[in-house]
Amino acid sequence: MSYSKPKFQEKYGNYINGAFIAPVDGEYFDNHSPVDNSLIAKFPRSKDADVKNAIAAANAAKEEWGNTSVAERSAILQKIADILEEHLEYFAQIETSDNGKAIRETLNADLPLAVDHFRYFASVIRAEEGSASELNKNTLSLIIQEPLGVVAQIIPWNFPLLMMAWKVAPALAAGNCIVLKPAEQTPVSATIFAEKVGHLLPKGVFNVIHGFGPEAGKPLASSPNVDKVAFTGETTTGQLIMQYASKNLHPVTMELGGKSPNVFFNSIMDHDDEFLDKCIEGAVLFALNQGEVCTCPSRLLIQEDIYEAFIEKVIARTEAIKMGDPFSPDTMMGAQASNDQYEKILSYINIGKEEGAEVLTGGEAAKLDGDLGNGFYIKPTILKGHNKMRVFQEEIFGPVVSVCTFKDEAEALEIANDTLYGLGAGVWTRDAHQLYQIPRAIKAGRVWVNCYHDYPAHAPFGGYKKSGFGRENHLMMLNHYRQAKNMLISY
Ligand code: NAD
Repeated sequence: MSYSKPKFQEKYGNYINGAFIAPVDGEYFDNHSPVDNSLIAKFPRSKDADVKNAIAAANAAKEEWGNTSVAERSAILQKIADILEEHLEYFAQIETSDNGKAIRETLNADLPLAVDHFRYFASVIRAEEGSASELNKNTLSLIIQEPLGVVAQIIPWNFPLLMMAWKVAPALAAGNCIVLKPAEQTPVSATIFAEKVGHLLPKGVFNVIHGFGPEAGKPLASSPNVDKVAFTGETTTGQLIMQYASKNLHPVTMELGGKSPNVFFNSIMDHDDEFLDKCIEGAVLFALNQGEVCTCPSRLLIQEDIYEAFIEKVIARTEAIKMGDPFSPDTMMGAQASNDQYEKILSYINIGKEEGAEVLTGGEAAKLDGDLGNGFYIKPTILKGHNKMRVFQEEIFGPVVSVCTFKDEAEALEIANDTLYGLGAGVWTRDAHQLYQIPRAIKAGRVWVNCYHDYPAHAPFGGYKKSGFGRENHLMMLNHYRQAKNMLISY
């Protein structure tokens, strides 16, 4: 099977009230593919007036959509999943074109996870009920769940379609109308999603506004006419969005940055080769999705008595990562998502060198041949240093891992928790005590033990500390998109 950049229109509109429409002031921006820096298409550079139109359309639709039955909404979500699945290869190629990630990931992870997300929320709402109980023999206490109304959703560029699915599926399932703003770096998949599934929803229920954060995101998050703001992105942007939403006292959920520790205890060396291989793969996952993952295991902590033996294997495995054409099925690492991100990652590698970190492998851009030479490729990089360095403390969001050693459990925990963030963590051990007590003591919303980077729809995901609050996935997510009403009915 061969894959390539699909054909795109020259320009696309915002998706408002069930139709693609041009921006009010007629301004567009160019969207380029990080694979080879070629032009994909033009997208609306939306401003206040476009955002207001989308919010108005959503408000006009909310009464009707909020009153649809759970069964109707569930059936629509199932159909959305079916259509995504039917066009899985097409969407996978779109994501690879727009984000630069390897096709093997979009085909085998991003798309199947997005499909499953719609199916999951289609199913759980059917299994859920409000509850009724008697307060006394004359009074019934009834609890029902009502949608919030219109939700503003602002998402990043690292998993464009999957982050959209994480937000859109539960919000629709709970009966809300949506105004979604994709990241300006990756506007394509949300647009094609609207094109393929928009007809399943009443007009105005799902709207997509393109554009830049300060021009399109800010009026959306600040609007008094939405009922909630759900955000995924950088911690500093999240702080701004909370300020905008707080003026209207609107609830927010915040899925923010991370600097996740991946902790390897010495017992991993005592066991079979198969388990050790799994550990090595787990350490190398810092390069998955080119390191542009909020839970990227970007701090590698290795117990000092196995450090030399283990890091040697991790370096060898890292150097075997096949970089190259993201459309080639055997490519393991593709392009960084944008020139800005590419520059940022390289500048962090330099900061690490200036701080005295030792480059164990990588440490520079990768030069590819032909058109790919115009794209944004960086070699997977391992820096050896200590946890006080900036490269251990700040989110790089690239294929760069910073490695240090620890003596014992206490020091492992001290280093793991010495971070402003608390999104993900990994623990690798065969010791029964450590299997439970170490993840329990790590301050993070998701701790993987002897595995990493699984994101099932039924497992709640979200941050501690500056990684945010609120949870995505799992049916508890529904409660972020609805409000409970209690009726005490006396008869
Ligand atoms: P970003 O914060 O720069 O942008 C995210 C979105 O916010 C984009 O749509 C952008 O246009 C918009 N935005 C930017 N400034 C804005 C403003 N002033 N007002 C309103 N909207 C604004 O983040 P990014 O660079 O796109 O994504 C990378 C970040 O996302 C990383 O920090 C990563 O850890 C985080 N992330 C977190 C999760 C999670 O679930 N916790 C998942 C994926 C990514």
